[in-house]
Amino acid sequence: MADLTARHSGIGMTSQRTRSRMVERLRGQGIRDEVVLSAMNSVPRHIFVDEALASRAYDDVSLPIGFGQTISNPQIVARMLELVRSGRDLGKVLEIGTGCGYQAALFSKIAREVYSVERIAPLLAKARSALRELGIYNARLRHADGNLGCRDAAPFDGIVVAAASGEVPKALLGQLAIGGRMVLPLGGGGDQQLCLVERTEQGYVEHLLDKVKFVPMLTGIN
Ligand code: SAH
Repeated sequence: MADLTARHSGIGMTSQRTRSRMVERLRGQGIRDEVVLSAMNSVPRHIFVDEALASRAYDDVSLPIGFGQTISNPQIVARMLELVRSGRDLGKVLEIGTGCGYQAALFSKIAREVYSVERIAPLLAKARSALRELGIYNARLRHADGNLGCRDAAPFDGIVVAAASGEVPKALLGQLAIGGRMVLPLGGGGDQQLCLVERTEQGYVEHLLDKVKFVPMLTGIN
């Protein structure tokens, strides 16, 4: 247990001090939501990457997590969570693309109940054990194709998609609650843009935001 506590609290480049510096950098980058910043301050990011990369876990970079996938840089993770939260208390939320589980861990701090879907089974297994290690029990991880969302748990107050597709997956639109917000990278080929979709009583409103770079959303499971 002492070992685990030491691993979480970290030393040097993985310490709480390094994490607090990351949060200060995020403020400088325009992240304002204190609830998101506090989650970023409390979740140890180095737990989610290979030990060999742990010293870079708090840098302003994306890092490889195996299977050709990456953990997004802290700024984009914070930006997406801030956009989806929009100052509200979140009930049930959905993440597509669990990856290493870092964003799911943050989501679990700002929402009541998290569903997260990943198509690569070994990544999901790693994410599960990281979340368990951190004592996070309000996140349910599913091995499935995220294009289909998570129908049995819908509707969701917020949806975050961590892989880019050419268009907004239809199933996800249907699983967004009225008043809900979805954030996703859009763009099949080269250029991608972050897109915010709001569902209102009247329908859907889309806003195109920052230029971004995500791994592609694939189909089927692996
Ligand atoms: N949120 C993650 C980022 C992971 S990168 C993190 O914090 O680490 C994006 C992830 O989306 C990859 O793990 C990839 O396997 C997954 N992905 C791509 N297409 C998918 C699909 N159709 N369904 C589910 N997951 C998908």
